[in-house]
Amino acid sequence: MKERNTVSRRQGGLLSSQNADPAHLYCSNHISMELKEFVEELKSRLDIVEVIGSYVSLQRVGKNYRALCPFHSEKTPSFYVNPERGFYHCFGCGASGDVIKFVQEIEQIDFMEAISKLANRAGMSLPSLSKKDVAYEAYTKLHEIFTEYYRLTLLSEKGREAFSYLTDARKLSRNDIEDFELGYAPRGLDSEIEGYLRKRGIALESALKNGLLQRTESGYVHRFQGRVIFPIKNEQGRVVGFGGRIIGEGEPKYLNSRDSRFFRKSGLLYLFDRAKKAAKKTGFIAVAEGYFDAIALHRVGIKSAVAALTASLTSMHLSKIASVVDNLLLIFDADESGVKGARRAFEEIVKRNLSVVVVTLERGKDPDEILSKYGPETLQKELLNARPYEVFLASVERGGLDLTTVSGKEMYLRKTARWYKLLKESNPDRARRYLESVSGFVDWPNEDVEAFWKGQKSLEENVAVPQGKGAKKDAEDFLVKLFMSSSELREDALSVMEEFQDVLTDFGKQFYQVVRNDPEVSLNFLASKLSKDMVDRLFEDLDLEILPGREREILEDCKKRLERKKLEAEIDSLDRKLKDDSLSVQERSELLNKRVYLSKLLKRKG
Ligand SMILES: [Zn+2]
Repeated sequence: MKERNTVSRRQGGLLSSQNADPAHLYCSNHISMELKEFVEELKSRLDIVEVIGSYVSLQRVGKNYRALCPFHSEKTPSFYVNPERGFYHCFGCGASGDVIKFVQEIEQIDFMEAISKLANRAGMSLPSLSKKDVAYEAYTKLHEIFTEYYRLTLLSEKGREAFSYLTDARKLSRNDIEDFELGYAPRGLDSEIEGYLRKRGIALESALKNGLLQRTESGYVHRFQGRVIFPIKNEQGRVVGFGGRIIGEGEPKYLNSRDSRFFRKSGLLYLFDRAKKAAKKTGFIAVAEGYFDAIALHRVGIKSAVAALTASLTSMHLSKIASVVDNLLLIFDADESGVKGARRAFEEIVKRNLSVVVVTLERGKDPDEILSKYGPETLQKELLNARPYEVFLASVERGGLDLTTVSGKEMYLRKTARWYKLLKESNPDRARRYLESVSGFVDWPNEDVEAFWKGQKSLEENVAVPQGKGAKKDAEDFLVKLFMSSSELREDALSVMEEFQDVLTDFGKQFYQVVRNDPEVSLNFLASKLSKDMVDRLFEDLDLEILPGREREILEDCKKRLERKKLEAEIDSLDRKLKDDSLSVQERSELLNKRVYLSKLLKRKG
């Protein structure tokens, strides 16, 4: 086991809290003068903007830098870095400190680990320290000893059922099982664990305290009893917790270690320690949903695959990934929960402006299932169907909506509006691609979709002027539709047509002439009275969609449009009259006054 240069939390006292102000640490008598000087030297060599900038995207504002805070979720940046004084501060959540504290917080590591990491970066070698971080050492050692115990149990008689589950149902080889250090926690009372731990110098109390064992009246049982075990390592490759999958019936299907100082699900990614190394070559990290999925990806050669321990990626996860690569491949199950997780993660992804492609698997539920059912070629092929995440996002939001209806389109546009806004703030090119995808789905021109999002265009106007098949619809098209489809509004539609018959198009006039005397007219009779073009238009109008409950609004809208048209026509006619040179001064002034009045009215009608 690798020796680690860490100071004792217990003996250090002041080191006991991860949030302790690092300034105190340097004054502590428990830290050697040598380390104190080392830390000062280290800080003076590091550029805080460069270090923080490798985790978050910083934007210069005067002497300072600004970013979306990596420690809390926000939409406008309130996280500031002051390079002159060497500290960061978030006005949103109060996070603040120097470059060491930042690395500690974002990586969720100890002071000494952060120092060691930064020293590496600055090309300095750490002074040799006699004191170790006893707590961390003890914690990881305990977990590594349990890893070994679970592993041996899986290979023993007690683990037979679990072993055949892995090899038969999951199609893992013995090699895979060894490679990923999978194990099994025996079911029921375990009489062997006590002796096993004692031989290795581990106090039983420590296993109880850390929740790996539970004491019962007759002995000890494992928290993960009856489960296949996935050891979860931190970035340094030390085991800090476990994931357990039940064998046979039982709830929950998956169980993780409790969160602790060294195990935070929101900051850990399964197989990240391996993926990090591989990502240097591949240039991307692939995120799957489950442990078996991440393993499946490794088995087909995608060695930079990880799995989140939480339902969706957190901002901590993304910071961690962003510190290694800018490119992500997200693999989502085809089911609803996958899509939900996708949506949650996207908010963070968009904000961070990571380059992300998404694969949704069509052939099966998840990578593991595809690999075991169809083999590696099929899985590899499925992975080639990755789409840019903005395109995926546009597609995801259609779920359950019928985009051939106006109400479906409206719902969809409302759902997509916020993503567009977010995307536009972070990356205009992606926002454009998103807009194009959405426009394609609703079959509207980009401008109309954008206008809808901006709130400048209400849906009613779009109903009145659908752009769908390129046919610009007039008010009377809607009046015809209302007349034909709503017995309640039939009379009203007719009276609007009557009032404005002067400004109706030929189609509207013909229609009005036929129905004015017989509002109960049949469609066949109507068709027989109209010319071929008019009949085509009539049938098109019958396909127009009007939101249920919106009929009255549409009628009012038609009326307004015809009023405007009438005013415009009157103004036109006045203008023609005004061109007459023979008008008297008196006549001219009357006409002009009338024109001013009508213009005002028109303006008021907007
Ligand atoms: Zn914050």
